[in-house]
Amino acid sequence: IPIRMSDRVEMTRYVAAEVSSAELENILKRPSHKSSETIMGIVNPIIKAVRTEGDKALLAYTQKFDRCPDLKSTVLKAPYPESLMTLTPEVKAAIDLSYDNILKFHAAQKESKPLVVETMPGVQCSRFARPVERVGLYIPGGTAVLPSTALMLGVPAMVAGCKTIVFASPPRPDGSITPEIVYIAHKVGAEAIVLAGGAQAVAALAYGTESVPKVDKILGPGNQFVTAAKMVVSNDTGATVSIDMPAGPSEVLVIADKTANPAFVASDLLSQAEHGVDSQVVLIAVDLSDEQLQAIGDELHAQAMALPRVDIVRGAIDHSVTVVVDSIEKAFEVSNLYAPEHLILQIAEAKACVEKVQNAGSVFIGPWTPESVGDYSAGVNHSLPTYGYARQYSGVNLATYVKHITSSELSFEGLQNLGNAVMDLAAVEGLDAHRMAVKIRLDHMRKSSS
Ligand code: NAD
Repeated sequence: IPIRMSDRVEMTRYVAAEVSSAELENILKRPSHKSSETIMGIVNPIIKAVRTEGDKALLAYTQKFDRCPDLKSTVLKAPYPESLMTLTPEVKAAIDLSYDNILKFHAAQKESKPLVVETMPGVQCSRFARPVERVGLYIPGGTAVLPSTALMLGVPAMVAGCKTIVFASPPRPDGSITPEIVYIAHKVGAEAIVLAGGAQAVAALAYGTESVPKVDKILGPGNQFVTAAKMVVSNDTGATVSIDMPAGPSEVLVIADKTANPAFVASDLLSQAEHGVDSQVVLIAVDLSDEQLQAIGDELHAQAMALPRVDIVRGAIDHSVTVVVDSIEKAFEVSNLYAPEHLILQIAEAKACVEKVQNAGSVFIGPWTPESVGDYSAGVNHSLPTYGYARQYSGVNLATYVKHITSSELSFEGLQNLGNAVMDLAAVEGLDAHRMAVKIRLDHMRKSSS
């Protein structure tokens, strides 16, 4: 039975030992979204219109959804005028520092040389990486301006060596784009910024329009319309476009034990809760007394009430939960079941416990690592799988911008060594031309050496 007092900013509390595993799974459900049928009913006609009418439809949808009736053009091409990227020295320095750290961490992920393996004498297999040539990077902008996402998507694209980088982000009502995003586009060498959001921006990137270059891969988080549109275009062979992952509303799971500072725990929970009413935060309290839980609850309420986005926070906290567990093992069992986008460890021996993490987008270790450092400046990427997709997806990293190509090279000896196996398997499959491609070579060599 949930324990709850109504007028506080307060998460519903459960005790893991008092609920069945089916109930626990239910407790950890993400807030429900609009049904995918409803979303598809909105998104499909938008995609179709942009595909067939190009810029005209892109502009019309942007004027409508982003409420900028006077917008004349949806594309800003490089080089960008200085006047569009005027920043305060502090913000410029903050972007530059974050850019450097993200660059360092992602550059270190580069594969320096091809992988080469001799699987048997004379049979050499190799794998090498090449960048995806054209990438479209979606930077959400509906409810908050997110230049940090421009950094997180743009810097690895540049490091990977993508030839064409295109940003897309909804314009402001006056038709302009935030100068931070323009500055970052300039820094990472993005050739254009599409001033559009939602399904129409995704469609423009997937199919191309008169003014928007078609891309090979679309990356970036966004709301349900963006995510649904990414899924639709990536399933259309007419677009031949891939996506990074289905990313949705932000979420965090904090594991806290008796060593955790209640104020730190509350601040981490709130920093995700302020993203949107559809965000969710989970606290796994390891063997905490009622007093300690009360202290976290008091901090949560007091800090929330002082936030400008307290109404959004209330919405998110409404479907957020505390689960009290009696051991670290149980805490990680629950966390791995939830598969959080962000996992914060405010526990003794936090670093040693990382090996217990099975499913998570990104892990924040110890009391001095608030999740915000990963959102902006530490160097790790903040574009991460949500909604439980951390079970099977990685967050954005350098490999997201790369595809691997394999090669094989056989000597005659190599072909002799595996020729019979290939011919036998080709015969099993009834593919005679496959078998002949080997036999003709072996016969040729035997003839010329006799
Ligand atoms: P957004 O840019 O994703 O969406 C804005 C666009 O939605 C608008 O341009 C419009 O085209 C479209 N839209 C809005 N209402 C519509 C309607 N009724 N019909 C059709 N289209 C409509 O910005 P947002 O809405 O602020 O959402 C950003 C999302 O991204 C949030 O859910 C946030 O949590 C998430 N996010 C996730 C991560 C991550 O790493 N997972 C990072 C940052 C943000």
